[in-house]
Amino acid sequence: MSAGDPGPRVVVVGGGLAGLSAAVACADGGAAVTLLEGRPRLGGATWSFNRKGLAFDNGQHVHLRCCEAYRGFLLRLGTSHLAPFDGPLAIPVLRPASSGGGAPATAWIRRDDLPAPLHLGRSLLSYRHLSPLDRLRLPPAAFGLRNARLDDPRLDTLTFGEWLRSHGQSDRAIERLWDLITLPTTNLRAREVSLSLAAKVFRTGLLTDTSAADIAWSAVPLAELHVEPARRLLESLGAEIRLKARVTELVLAGRGAVRGVATEDGILEAEAVVLAVPHEAAAQLLPPPAVTAGRAADLRLLGTSPIVNVHIVFDRKVMEHRIAAAVDSPVQFVFDRTRAAGMDPADGQVVAISLSGADVEIGQRPEVLIDRQLEAFRTLFPLARRAEVVDAVVTREHDATFRGVPGTRSLRLGARTAIPNLALAGAWTDTGWPATMEGAVRSGRAAADVALASLGHTRTPDAEEVIA
Ligand SMILES: Cc1cc2nc3c(=O)[nH]c(=O)nc-3n(C[C@H](O)[C@H](O)[C@H](O)COP(=O)(O)OP(=O)(O)OC[C@H]3O[C@@H](n4cnc5c(N)ncnc54)[C@H](O)[C@@H]3O)c2cc1C
Repeated sequence: MSAGDPGPRVVVVGGGLAGLSAAVACADGGAAVTLLEGRPRLGGATWSFNRKGLAFDNGQHVHLRCCEAYRGFLLRLGTSHLAPFDGPLAIPVLRPASSGGGAPATAWIRRDDLPAPLHLGRSLLSYRHLSPLDRLRLPPAAFGLRNARLDDPRLDTLTFGEWLRSHGQSDRAIERLWDLITLPTTNLRAREVSLSLAAKVFRTGLLTDTSAADIAWSAVPLAELHVEPARRLLESLGAEIRLKARVTELVLAGRGAVRGVATEDGILEAEAVVLAVPHEAAAQLLPPPAVTAGRAADLRLLGTSPIVNVHIVFDRKVMEHRIAAAVDSPVQFVFDRTRAAGMDPADGQVVAISLSGADVEIGQRPEVLIDRQLEAFRTLFPLARRAEVVDAVVTREHDATFRGVPGTRSLRLGARTAIPNLALAGAWTDTGWPATMEGAVRSGRAAADVALASLGHTRTPDAEEVIA
């Protein structure tokens, strides 16, 4: 490629994290990128909005230290300092007092510095929400999971709950401990999620590396953390971004290559295409030869699982912790979002209550959800009982993630298709990870590798890949 040569055109369809990371990787690899996003904004499942002078996200997003691709993306954007780690893993788990007005009981999920999985041993053996017998039964199950072979297809034939029960875990242990990790990471409860997906989470996050589960989340709205910085970076790399540009069709050149995409404005020619849309949109757009026989239609079987967030603005500080979880309560996880929302802590506190696997809550009216969550929150955080609610708002994502039940692993397609210059990305693709920001960025990189290779280019490795 000579100086001034814009490089081969790659069209990236979809402006979520998968599309943004694919677009950056393709631009870094020397392609002339056009990113087409159907909505009037970038960010996909990660978006922010303003209300009454404060900033909110569509839902609390966290990531772990093991999310190396997402961290690498933030490094590339120059914003990793805006999502600091909250120290070594330490989450207070609150259980309401049995008599309504009493103080809640607190147990901790925390790690120490011992090698994994011993780093969790002390915390689990003193986890007071379980009986001593239930606690003693935790380590054998943890070791069983640690030894599970993630590439064994049999892991995708049963639920994590079935496996836990067959490994001595009581219903109480599943609800009060295992689900605390399964729900926010896979967006399903243990009784539903595939053992395959849960084993990946526990193996990668909790059982193989001491610091892998240290938690980080954005100190600013997600739009400032990765959406706007990605837009700016792409534009500085010469990429073109078109919003409200819904792709209606992939245009093929004969059977073996894609020639471009069709939008309402006409056909856009491309030398390679990255399709980074949710699985249901991909099922509609993928031409049959692009996938192995019949698989495109199967994509819809991946289903979806909802997430609901209840954001409450109090007139004073009501919660000491930056993050807390709850058991035996409608509340699941709570985050202090005061500074991220743009509020001075002296003026009050903004909390986000995050509800994963929210099949029931997704259909409830906002005022019902707010009342129920507020009442439960007040039993857990006594200071909130006397505080005024200044504002409360509910965000609902019906299709937050695919539904990773048994049998879904084989439905997830890889980045490579039968058409060499057409690549797939998206958190739903076959990354091995649950539908997460990490999975989305990994998929974007993998798709960029495929698209660039079809043009004879290679991707520039991210900083953390070079270090590794
Ligand atoms: C409320 C909520 C909380 C979450 N919490 C976490 C968390 O704590 N940690 C974590 O790691 N992950 C979390 N996730 C999951 C994470 O946000 C997603 O897995 C990830 O952002 C998905 O990125 P994606 O690019 O694959 O898909 P998307 O973000 O869905 O992007 C796809 C894009 O394609 C566009 N599109 C669709 N069809 C077309 C078309 N025909 N033409 C053009 N554009 C099209 C869409 O408009 C969309 O912008 C959460 C998700 C939600 C909703």
